[in-house]
Amino acid sequence: MGRIVKVSGPLIVADGMGESKMFDVVRVGKQRLIGEIIELRGEMASIEVYEETAGIGPGDEVFDTGEPLSVELAPGLIESIYDGIQRPLDKLREAGGDRIARGVEASPLDHQKKWAFTPTAKKGDKLSAGDCLGFVMENEFVKHKILMPLGVAGTIKEIYAGEFTIDEPVATVTAETGDIKIAMLRKAAVRKGRPYREKLSPSSPMITGQRVIDTFFPIARGGVAAVPGPFGSGKTVVQHQLAKWADADIIVYVGCGERGNEMTDVLNEFPELTDPKTGEPLMKRTVLIANTSDMPVAAREASIYTGITIAEYFRDMGYNVAIMADSTSRWAEALREMSGRLEEMPGEEGYPAYLSARLAEFYERAGIVKVLGSGDAVGSVTAIGAVSPPGGDLSEPVSQATLRIVKVFWGLSASLAYKRHFPAIDWLQSYSLYTDRLSDWFDSNLGEEWNRMRADAMRILQEEAELNEIVRLVGMDALGGKDRVTMDTAKSIREDYLHQNAFHETDTYTSTEKQLKMLGLILEFDRLARNALQKNVDAEDIIALPVKERIGRAKYIPEERMEEFRIISEEMERQFAGLIG
Ligand code: ADP
Repeated sequence: MGRIVKVSGPLIVADGMGESKMFDVVRVGKQRLIGEIIELRGEMASIEVYEETAGIGPGDEVFDTGEPLSVELAPGLIESIYDGIQRPLDKLREAGGDRIARGVEASPLDHQKKWAFTPTAKKGDKLSAGDCLGFVMENEFVKHKILMPLGVAGTIKEIYAGEFTIDEPVATVTAETGDIKIAMLRKAAVRKGRPYREKLSPSSPMITGQRVIDTFFPIARGGVAAVPGPFGSGKTVVQHQLAKWADADIIVYVGCGERGNEMTDVLNEFPELTDPKTGEPLMKRTVLIANTSDMPVAAREASIYTGITIAEYFRDMGYNVAIMADSTSRWAEALREMSGRLEEMPGEEGYPAYLSARLAEFYERAGIVKVLGSGDAVGSVTAIGAVSPPGGDLSEPVSQATLRIVKVFWGLSASLAYKRHFPAIDWLQSYSLYTDRLSDWFDSNLGEEWNRMRADAMRILQEEAELNEIVRLVGMDALGGKDRVTMDTAKSIREDYLHQNAFHETDTYTSTEKQLKMLGLILEFDRLARNALQKNVDAEDIIALPVKERIGRAKYIPEERMEEFRIISEEMERQFAGLIG
């Protein structure tokens, strides 16, 4: 037991802590506030406290729990709403009203509730860590697999079907050291990645139904992406669209509130979202971690580790998990504040020198892996972080550090947002380093045109950017026929293809098959236009063809009426034939 010598906001310093370890969780003062040791020097420990420290003072006691900051993992996680250190926000609210009372112990999972456990392993099976014992249906969508705990191997002596709490044994395993009873509950330290057998190289995309992303800047399953953008540029809408539409089995959404009531928005909004695939609430495959404004910065710092540990836990069951962190800038600010209080040497703009290392530690835990266990199961964690640079200036340290790590960059542009071009992902700035690696997948799943079309479309957009300069100087009329067609095709790519309304029931999601057909129409028009130019047709007459209107509305064609694309295409050929005469 130690005693406080100094309190500085969320940081306290305690003496008499010689026997403690780094990152041990401690309880502070009479209120037993939760904290974590973040620095040890001899008998002195610096402790990050996850709760408001008012009323705590020198002389108060500090108890070391001897355990690192951990999360509880078991059925009941899905649909939960937690704070940064996995305290259930809804239960805390019930217990203490809107402001979370301090030092309250509320367990993250319900320990009384009984879950129906169905064994898949049987008596006599030899299992080791990561092998599946059985499962619990958390709801109609999530099959929560119960795996052999880390560090345990042996032969199943007994396994039971029936209703159990997460603490009751569902199996007995005979290990070398004797019989071990195994319950469903696992505990995991959050600051260390969970083990796996082998990291694989990402080779398939996580399809999102967002055209600018899937076509131009795809993210791989197990990949890492960042969405930087100034306030109002659509970061939250992008994150919500991904949460709704990305083909992931489980979503972990970590919200680090920007301004005071912003997290309350997430808490109110997220549970309202419906899962388009099932028509049920999206929460039925989601774990939500939210830092409300009345929680001190330290909890914000912990929240992304809590989030990614939960993501890894579902990955280990062989699932594809997507984790969204919104926003990592707020997280980095928490890091900066703690570092300041520790009186560490500040780096750029006051952020600690280890900012990049910490960000890398988070993103490195994403990936596609062969999971533990004797099967060949593969699971993935795909991580997407929003970054909110002050004033949208990407040269600031958090953006820079993030860009060095992530492989996909969806840069949101204030000027596109201002023009109401949404999603405001700037096609000239953004990139995906996965495109080459995914091209085989696209080739074999969507045919060779996909890669060719995306390259053609991107080339036309780049040509437009160059032509824009000329147009600015001498006006559109000065352009030759070919350039005029290029400008027109680029406009069509931007407005008819890249622009996608998240709030329109059909436009909100586009299958890759439909993306292919939509872009196909635009590029086919371009080809026929160039052909007509050679036959001396005037560019203005081409651009004025009535079929353009139908191409523009192709985004509203429902997925089940795909034959309309053929009809438009035939119409287009007829109209061109009419021009050429
Ligand atoms: P940020 O989180 O970057 O501050 P938001 O995600 O809240 O910005 O977006 C601001 C506004 O932009 C939204 O309220 C919405 O009106 C509009 N918007 C953003 N993305 C889209 C989209 N894909 N489709 C339609 N409107 C959008």
